[in-house]
Amino acid sequence: MSTIKIIDKGEKFTHAQIDNFSHFEGKEFLKDATEATSCEISLGTLPQGAAVPFFHNHKENEENYIIISGSGKFQIDTEVFDISAGSVIRVATGCDRNLKCTSQEPMTYLCIQAKENSLGNYTMTDGTITERPSLL
Ligand code: ZN
Repeated sequence: MSTIKIIDKGEKFTHAQIDNFSHFEGKEFLKDATEATSCEISLGTLPQGAAVPFFHNHKENEENYIIISGSGKFQIDTEVFDISAGSVIRVATGCDRNLKCTSQEPMTYLCIQAKENSLGNYTMTDGTITERPSLL
C-alpha cells in the first residue's frame, strides 16, 4: 500500500511524494496531503479483471479520468466504451460511473474532481508571464 509523505511545505506550496510510485497499488486521495482547495485528485490502480467495487455518482462535482497505463472498459449509466493509456474521460454530475481493467498490466489512472461549471478564467486568461530569474 502506498502512502503520501509531505516532502516540503512553504507558504505558497506543498510538495508531497507518493511512496513507491512506480509500483503503486490501490487508491490514494491527494487533497489532504497537499491541502488543495480547488479540486480533489486521486490516483488509482486496478489489477487485471478488477473494477471499482461500486458504482457512484456525484451531485456537484464532475470528474476527469486520465488513464496512465493499462486498458479496460468505462461505464457511464448504461453506456460502455474502451479506454487505454492516454484516454481522458470527463464525467458529468448525476450519472453512475465505473471502470474495469481488462489488460494484463494494472490500469493506473488519475481522477480529478472539481465543481461542475466552476471554471472561469484558466491558462493564459488567468495566468501572467513573469520576469523572475530562473534558479533551476
Ligand atoms: Zn467520484
